[in-house]
Amino acid sequence: MNDIKLALLGSEGAGKSAVLVRFLTRRFIGEYASSTNSLYHKRLSIDGRQLNLEVLDPCSQGSRAGSILEEPVDWADGFVVVYNISDRTSFLNAQNILRQIREARVDGKGPEAAPPREMPVPVCLLGNKQDLCHVREVCEDEGRCLAQQNRCLFQEVSAAESYQDISNLFTQLIRQVMEQ
Ligand code: GDP
Repeated sequence: MNDIKLALLGSEGAGKSAVLVRFLTRRFIGEYASSTNSLYHKRLSIDGRQLNLEVLDPCSQGSRAGSILEEPVDWADGFVVVYNISDRTSFLNAQNILRQIREARVDGKGPEAAPPREMPVPVCLLGNKQDLCHVREVCEDEGRCLAQQNRCLFQEVSAAESYQDISNLFTQLIRQVMEQ
């Protein structure tokens, strides 16, 4: 596969745009205002394979409990679900999003086609704003546990301070998509 489509999901303010911009440009952009869905393109080489990466950064999914997945869930080959470790509401929203991905993506085979805890697409859970750990509301074990329950990748990161962890996670996620 040469074309890979990823979508970022998570509460408004969790740092989705900052994480993505960090991955794409290695820079941290403090205030990134976007009122529309943004689609980013990047050519990259992983394990010797040339890839066209498209990443969708939906403008805002808020933290409401309703469906936030309508379009990205059908479009994407993989998901990056972002929460803010200093905002428990964003973590609860991430739980809700993971559940919705599980339930929504069963490749048209009906809900019975995927075991309830099985993720039908590669997913990575990111606990962002690790630099704010002095005001953390979600401990790292909770994030790891949620990821284990959903069999997805997990890492705490700081878009503000570090590129490498974010890059490693995106690379692992892309590898999983390529292996599908
Ligand atoms: P989005 O709504 O999920 O796309 O969130 P943004 O990327 O717009 O970030 C929301 C706010 O959090 C902005 O003020 C960012 O500067 C800030 N932010 C994003 N990532 C980090 C981080 O890792 N650490 C800190 N301290 N702030 C961050």
